[in-house]
Amino acid sequence: MRAADIADDLTTVLVTEEQIHARLAELGQQVTEDYDGKELVLVGVLKGAVMVMADFMRALPKHVTMDWMAVSSYGASTKSSGVVQIRKDLDIDLADKHVLIVEDIIDSGLTLAWLLENFESRGAASIEVLALLRKPDAMKVEINSRYVGFDIPSDFVVGYGLDYDERYRNLRDVAVLAPHVYS
Ligand code: 5GP
Ligand code: MG
Ligand code: MG
Repeated sequence: MRAADIADDLTTVLVTEEQIHARLAELGQQVTEDYDGKELVLVGVLKGAVMVMADFMRALPKHVTMDWMAVSSYGASTKSSGVVQIRKDLDIDLADKHVLIVEDIIDSGLTLAWLLENFESRGAASIEVLALLRKPDAMKVEINSRYVGFDIPSDFVVGYGLDYDERYRNLRDVAVLAPHVYS
């Protein structure tokens, strides 16, 4: 669905599907240059990163592999608990691999900080982060995210994989959720 289909639930469209695709193509080029001659493993964080992974992966003109991890820190609330729990671990061994974590959004940064530490302990050759969205004003810990799609304000957003209580993931654009939906 597009933002116009559920206009009552949204206040502002921040990033359109077209803008996302264009930006992912740019990041794909950058990643291709940076990982020239190296094997790359993309690790997506379920479920929010499914759309970013699908579109970003296809923007790459070389072989890559993909794996997924499911963690939880949010539930049906709109604020990070800071408590991270593994719900589904990786299938592959990260030892000596060049890993690029693919994330939907960096909000407080707590989830990624935890994941980075966890992946480092598995002996990866390198670990970088690609995040479609980042909220600079909401970050509680410094995250060295090499590839960022868009910096956005600290409002709660939905769409392009991002949910509120498991809904809105199939919205094609990224939009600010109207407060009346969750208050
Ligand atoms: P953190 O606060 O740890 O950086 O964010 C953890 C996770 O919370 C993100 O990966 C994302 O799934 C979710 N999250 C953070 N901000 C938002 C937001 O504005 N909208 C939605 N739908 N999820 C968010
Ligand atoms: Mg996420
Ligand atoms: Mg969520």
